Amino acid sequence: QAKQAGRNVIRAFIPEMQETLNFRASLESDLRNALERNELILHYQVQVDASGQPVGAEALIRWNQAERGMIPPAEFIPLAEETGLILPIGHWVLKQGCKTLVDWAKHPETRMLRLAVNISSRQLSQADFVAQVSTLLAETGVNPARLKLEITESVILDNVEDTIAKMHAVRDLGVNFSMDDFGTGYSSLSYLQKLPLEQLKIDQSFVRNMAFNKHDSAIIRTILALGKNLTLNVIAEGVETEIQREYLASFGCQVFQGYLFGKPVSADEFKQSLLKKSPL
Ligand code: C2E
Ligand code: MG
Ligand code: MG
Ligand code: MG
Repeated sequence: QAKQAGRNVIRAFIPEMQETLNFRASLESDLRNALERNELILHYQVQVDASGQPVGAEALIRWNQAERGMIPPAEFIPLAEETGLILPIGHWVLKQGCKTLVDWAKHPETRMLRLAVNISSRQLSQADFVAQVSTLLAETGVNPARLKLEITESVILDNVEDTIAKMHAVRDLGVNFSMDDFGTGYSSLSYLQKLPLEQLKIDQSFVRNMAFNKHDSAIIRTILALGKNLTLNVIAEGVETEIQREYLASFGCQVFQGYLFGKPVSADEFKQSLLKKSPL
């Protein structure tokens, strides 16, 4: 009887696994075509200073897929990383980000903005990553000081010395680095000091509960103190409420990003709202 039940469980399980595999395979083949079909787009989320003035933006990828609709990055970036598709996709994101900055440079309302672009550790581990960045800077004519690359703590899990050397070479081209999702990874403080970083980005998970959770609030104050001591600027992400903004500002945070200031929006919408100075 028990054996019979076990068989039934297995029989029920296999079609589901097959479905998952089929879904993945079709998603992967669709993703392979996404670039040439122009289905990938960047949205832009504003970053503001303590007085609420826009100082920059983060570029966030979306996949506008014919049958599936608008797909958020959490649903395809992991697959892109596993399959290596993140390399052509990441290159496209960087190029598109540079083009956007060149466009912003034409208008007094947007020319001071900096743009942060997310870089996966697989991109940074490519032997020719520095050459790719250098070529994109030359091709687009973008001011490198306006561009910022967001990396995560996982980059130092790879070949540490090699990663540090590449980051210095990119920094020498005039491009800065921000450490995204800071506090959630496992970077040791000694590595942190060796990386040519300009900014630490406090992960939104700490911001979410900071008003209620002593530990999250303590971590945020520690990151801000660390930034001060290492002369790195600190930005908080995922700021949704005025209370969170006030707490962060009272602890010395000077740059903010989150729904309180604006959701990620299309390039057109972003530019128009800055030109018209209307809220995002
Ligand atoms: P991330 O780089 O940490 O980006 C922040 C995420 O938080 C974004 O989600 C953003 O839309 C969301 N967010 C911003 N403000 C708020 C807020 O106030 N509250 C809440 N709850 N969320 C907020 P999104 O756009 O879905 O991106 C998710 C992740 O996908 C990014 O996390 C990043 O790791 C990855 N990603 C996005 N674009 C790219 C890309 O071009 N390349 C790579 N390699 N990864 C990307
Ligand atoms: Mg980011
Ligand atoms: Mg983040
Ligand atoms: Mg995140």
